[in-house]
Amino acid sequence: MKKCGHFKDLILTDYIDGRLDKNAVAALESHLLECSDCSAFFKEVKNTAVSPFHRALQQPPPAGLWEAVKQAVEQEEQPGFGENFINGLKGWMVFPRLVPVAATLVLMLLAGGVSLTTLQADRAQEKADAAYLVSLFNAGGGASSSDNTSLGTPIEKYFL
Ligand SMILES: [Zn+2]
Repeated sequence: MKKCGHFKDLILTDYIDGRLDKNAVAALESHLLECSDCSAFFKEVKNTAVSPFHRALQQPPPAGLWEAVKQAVEQEEQPGFGENFINGLKGWMVFPRLVPVAATLVLMLLAGGVSLTTLQADRAQEKADAAYLVSLFNAGGGASSSDNTSLGTPIEKYFL
């Protein structure tokens, strides 16, 4: 049937996402009833692409995972945190259904780590700015005091 490709496209996109309008859904579902090819295709898509994710969402993460995340957060500012955390997560990677959950947590923690790193970089920049200002003050006095033992800066000469 000529329409089959069109219906299969809809099955793979808007129908699965629930974004198809009512008329299109009715047309698609009535076609599924009369076309064994498309209805088999729909079942396959549903079983392979959609259901595993529904199960993954319903799968509660084990209590130990939250403990690992908590420890990782507490150790976040210590060196070697990333290595320890990844090694800790490797144990959970054994269970394929937990991989989406774990990957999400890793992404969340990486995003948090990036913002922390940025904050630390900002603080380092502030320290560098302060050090630069201090060096400016020191340069004013340091240059003249090296060849002048009685008086310090030109400003001191002016006042004394
Ligand atoms: Zn069909």
